[in-house]
Amino acid sequence: MNKQLTHFLLKGGRLIDPASAKDGRFDIRVRDGKIDAIGVDLTLNGATEIDVKDQIVTPGLIDVHLHLLKGLGAFGVDPDIFGVGSGVTTVVDAGSAGHTLLNIFRSYVTDNAKTRVLNYINLSTLGGVSGPGYSILADPRLIDEDKIEKAVEANRDIIVGIKIMATGVALGSQGLKPLGRARKLGDTLKLPLLVHIGESWTKDTAPVHVGDVLKYLRPGDIVTHMFTVHPDGLLDGNGKLWPQVRDAKESGMLMDVGHGLHNLNFDVARKVLDQGLHPDGVSTDGHRGNRAGPVYDLPTTMAKLMALGFSLNQVIEMATANAAKLLGRAGDLGTLKVGLPADISVLKLEDREWKAVDSQKGTIPAHQAITPVYAIRGDMIYEPLPIERP
Ligand SMILES: [Zn+2]
Repeated sequence: MNKQLTHFLLKGGRLIDPASAKDGRFDIRVRDGKIDAIGVDLTLNGATEIDVKDQIVTPGLIDVHLHLLKGLGAFGVDPDIFGVGSGVTTVVDAGSAGHTLLNIFRSYVTDNAKTRVLNYINLSTLGGVSGPGYSILADPRLIDEDKIEKAVEANRDIIVGIKIMATGVALGSQGLKPLGRARKLGDTLKLPLLVHIGESWTKDTAPVHVGDVLKYLRPGDIVTHMFTVHPDGLLDGNGKLWPQVRDAKESGMLMDVGHGLHNLNFDVARKVLDQGLHPDGVSTDGHRGNRAGPVYDLPTTMAKLMALGFSLNQVIEMATANAAKLLGRAGDLGTLKVGLPADISVLKLEDREWKAVDSQKGTIPAHQAITPVYAIRGDMIYEPLPIERP
């Protein structure tokens, strides 16, 4: 049951907050929706005690790539399903709305969600209305810089970047020209670009070479679907990272997982990770078609990265401190500070054997599972929605 409490104490948990270098037994007291105290063995002071002994307490988890225009096409999912219904307090839509749909997105999704919802505005006027298998950038009239600028300026509080589909099918006869226009727009608006790589939807189009795409990116821009097995990924035919990928990462370009229905492949992930390239953000690419598997939720996606060799602290850092940096929100998200609005996740870490499944139904053994216990925003405490996980 979700509940509202004006004064409560999270008692006895293990707090992991990489942004403030905390890992240990700390209690957290929340009053009137704000963090009132973080400390060892805090007294109740009249607060209601919430026992989180043996559980992990973290800054509110951030899922940096989903499709949240609920009801839109095959993908649009209610943000509270992958959000507070999954122990996650912030979810970020990756380009469902172009400039024409942004006001609808805001009033229909953002303003009605219990979860904080941020946006990457789509470079294409069409946004996600036609689904990913269409040529949404192939006609030069489908990018309208003036209207994008106006939409961004009116919605700066929720816009975190510009989404571009860098696939052969999306770009069509325009080739790389839309990337040049995105580059200019990103510079003008001082927003990072979120670039989708991986040609998942058609075999008829020649894929775009990732090395050509990277030429348009700057430090702080983000490539999503880093572990895709589809053409236009990070690896060459011999399973080696394209040299441009390594150069771009070293120069400060960021990498996101973007699990999704197509784009987390364990074999690719192993090869990429073995060559020293690590993700900055972890995300589900959650939508209506992958909630029941292979994705489930962000905690399960984090546990899959642990099965690939990352530690609990590393995956929590990706979903909190690093995600906040990637979104340009490191000041107010991804860490816990006295005086800030309460934005907290409580998780259960279990030692148990399970099989992690990737987007191509490949499996690897996993020894630990992460499940959500609470998502806390202000004075609201949300319990996760029932879901059958592996
Ligand atoms: Zn996506």
